[in-house]
Amino acid sequence: MQPIQGLHHITAVAGDPQRNLAFYETVLGQRLVKTTVNFDDPGTYHLYYGDEIGTPGTIMTFFPWRHMRRGVLGNGETSAVAYTIPAGSETYWQQRLATHGVTVGEPATRFGQTVLPFQDPDGMRLELITAAGPATIRHWAGGPVPAGQALLGFHGVTLWLAEVEGTARLLTDQLGYQRVGQEGARSRYQAASNDVGLYVDLLHRPGAPAGRFGVGSIHHIAFRTVDDSEQLAYQRQLRQAGHNVTPVQDRQYFHSIYFRAPGGVLFEVATDAPGFYYDEPIADLGRSLKLPPWLEPQRAEIEAALPPLARDVMHTP
Ligand code: ZN
Repeated sequence: MQPIQGLHHITAVAGDPQRNLAFYETVLGQRLVKTTVNFDDPGTYHLYYGDEIGTPGTIMTFFPWRHMRRGVLGNGETSAVAYTIPAGSETYWQQRLATHGVTVGEPATRFGQTVLPFQDPDGMRLELITAAGPATIRHWAGGPVPAGQALLGFHGVTLWLAEVEGTARLLTDQLGYQRVGQEGARSRYQAASNDVGLYVDLLHRPGAPAGRFGVGSIHHIAFRTVDDSEQLAYQRQLRQAGHNVTPVQDRQYFHSIYFRAPGGVLFEVATDAPGFYYDEPIADLGRSLKLPPWLEPQRAEIEAALPPLARDVMHTP
């Protein structure tokens, strides 16, 4: 079994889908690579953003639940998503975000790297961290951000935990992560690869209140595994270690198993294959509503119930 290669995707709850699209695509320059629905709640979109082709480690996904109340961030949750940006692009991003009305916090230094903190329109915490980018990212040439400044996929995530020990052991003993640093209450764990989305930071917050799930909350984080047989090996191993792991779910663009980490954060292990361009050409990714075969018979009702979505960036192949 290979150790986990890093993050595959991160899934969160948004409010208005149009506002979510405008922010992630037009402001952050992340391409909408798939427009589909929540398979368990087909009246709600499931929007996937990533690099040009939806490379694992760049994929941020949202369920826009327009009528859900705002979440309150707290323990037992993923508290922030960090993207890598190229060295020297900090000023570009400070200006770009300010131009779009986004308040950027004071730059901080964490493990020797510059961190720019801000929030998306639903209050989800985002960070841009200056670091060397992996070679596997495919820049979206049709997007609004030039290649020299574009986001380079996930840097990592931060989890807020009352107790870190259980999650730390899960990362190191089951998923192949190594503990690589400590700064105050923050400990950093790194996946055993040179690719994208390598870091999970655990922030120890003893006695702090638990989060309340809602709009702006991160629902789960997914780790990468190469194929189905390795995913089954992880399922077996995690069950043997006492974790309550779900059966494999077919998510069309990857296959998934889920389990709750000690301390409350929902983890997923997802396969790299089949990826986002098996059911539409790369030039057309995200343009039309895709449904899994079992929902196709209900396409007319589903389309009628979904709010319209307009994209305002240029889309060139
Ligand atoms: Zn997922």
